Amino acid sequence: MDCIFCKIAKGEIPSIKVFENENFFAVNDINPKAKIHILIIPKEHIESIKHLQDSHKNLIGEMFLAAQKIAKGKNLQGYKLVINVGREGGQLVDHLHLHLLSGEVDPLKV
Ligand code: 5GP
Ligand code: ZN
Repeated sequence: MDCIFCKIAKGEIPSIKVFENENFFAVNDINPKAKIHILIIPKEHIESIKHLQDSHKNLIGEMFLAAQKIAKGKNLQGYKLVINVGREGGQLVDHLHLHLLSGEVDPLKV
């Protein structure tokens, strides 16, 4: 499958993983939008939040716990977690991922 995050997961594209466990890995974003910008990526190919199923309940909980663990490990006092969903939601890579941003993060304007 021609998916950049699956290729990183399988080691077909070399990367420095800042975190890894059974179900997830995390890498620094190639084009950081804050001082710290980490992507938390499930190893399973799930296209987006739109493609979640009941069977993913635990996985999604684990994704946020992985973010908390990474943030604690980096001693971050505050951070922003973002999931873009679909093109209209700013999603460019069609493999679910959680952005963890910290430092010089703009407040959300709605
Ligand atoms: P999205 O817009 O889909 O929510 O976020 C995709 C993110 O992946 C972007 O912030 C982009 O900079 C990042 N990205 C795209 N290709 C690569 C890559 O090959 N390696 C890494 N580490 N990040 C990537
Ligand atoms: Zn994928």
